[in-house]
Amino acid sequence: MLELTGIEAWYGGIQALKGISLHVDKGEIVTLIGSNGAGKSTTLKSISGQVPIKKGSIFYNGKDIANIAAHKTAVLGISQVPEGRRIFPKLSVRENLLIGAFAVKDKQLIETRMEKVFEYFPRLKERVEQKGGTMSGGEQQMLAIGRALMMQPEVLMLDEPSMGLAPIIVEQIFEIIKELNKQGMTILLVEQNAFQALQIASRGYVIQTGEIVLEGTGEELITNKQVQEAYLA
Ligand code: ATP
Repeated sequence: MLELTGIEAWYGGIQALKGISLHVDKGEIVTLIGSNGAGKSTTLKSISGQVPIKKGSIFYNGKDIANIAAHKTAVLGISQVPEGRRIFPKLSVRENLLIGAFAVKDKQLIETRMEKVFEYFPRLKERVEQKGGTMSGGEQQMLAIGRALMMQPEVLMLDEPSMGLAPIIVEQIFEIIKELNKQGMTILLVEQNAFQALQIASRGYVIQTGEIVLEGTGEELITNKQVQEAYLA
């Protein structure tokens, strides 16, 4: 469904990705793990068109989407929940969700999708008129995921959804990710919380300084000695 081959990306003179190749198949939860600065976020951003690719290809359902404009990837079916949530703090929950549906013109369809988001996150419904910035970290993460769901993506990419959240909220977020996947959504998950990510993942890749150094099923990686020492200790 999604296939990256030899992706190279730079920030000015710094090479952040040194030939990343990976694939995500329909219905999978694939996780990217690695330490700070390894290149996990840049990999997601290269897919969503937020970071230019110098070399390599990205095929999505047979179409080359390398260096496509960011808003177009969402229209094609790939939505991203960014690191740090990036919700609009001065806008209400409802307004934040409407922004997520930027490419949907049909008002009824927008309402239907919003109701679907509320089924996953009843808390958002309770707070529909509340300003995003006044909500807790967990609620803001729910809103960021809800906003991405408004485009009804085929592939949902999440960048560190557990960051800064209490363990009980992290559990809830991971339950929702599992549920979305059960309903048929393909997931590409970037996490520092490697243990929890690998527990729900079909497969995973370990990224180190812009390169993939290991890949395997969630089970294989969680029991791998190198992974245990570096990321699960
Ligand atoms: P983190 O969990 O800290 O976000 P990461 O694995 O997602 O880590 P990236 O954010 O992809 O890593 O960063 C990869 C490399 O690119 C790092 O060396 C980082 O310093 C660099 N980098 C990331 N964003 C920028 C930027 N906007 N300008 C310059 N360098 C950047």
